[in-house]
Amino acid sequence: MISKRRLLLTVDHEIFGNGVGDVRRHMVEPTERMARISEQFGMPLTVFFEVEEFLAFERERENLLDVWGYDPAAEVRAQAIDLVKRGHDLQLHLHPEWVGSVFEGGRWILRPDKRTVDSLFEAQADVSAYIGQRKAVIDGFYEAAGSTRGGCGPTAAGASVRSRDGNC
Ligand SMILES: [Zn+2]
Repeated sequence: MISKRRLLLTVDHEIFGNGVGDVRRHMVEPTERMARISEQFGMPLTVFFEVEEFLAFERERENLLDVWGYDPAAEVRAQAIDLVKRGHDLQLHLHPEWVGSVFEGGRWILRPDKRTVDSLFEAQADVSAYIGQRKAVIDGFYEAAGSTRGGCGPTAAGASVRSRDGNC
């Protein structure tokens, strides 16, 4: 008897874990290649979109424009919306060490003591509120793409986020 299995092809939409890397070269371009490959097989890609890193790119837009010569937040946002329009799946992904990060001397200074969402807050209600706010960023990409389905929808793979209750 043949059993059908569901296969999800996923990518983490982020630069390297220690904050090095180039957004175009290590993030936007490889994601586009993966999306095109998955489209050849009619298979949507599940993109775990790192919201905290994206917010850091927005915060440091002027600095990054000076050093990198382009606006990574704008490129990442445009890619997220484009992927949704093409039928791919965006889900919430968080690396909390980006909370309060700064871009100084041409590199990112992260907060390695804040590697989990739980390390940011004392109370579960605050953890849940934080995750809801970050998920709203993903939902905003769906809205901008003209789609009614946000992250963690009925066909979604689930959220890649570390918290006590684990997901959206
Ligand atoms: Zn990641």
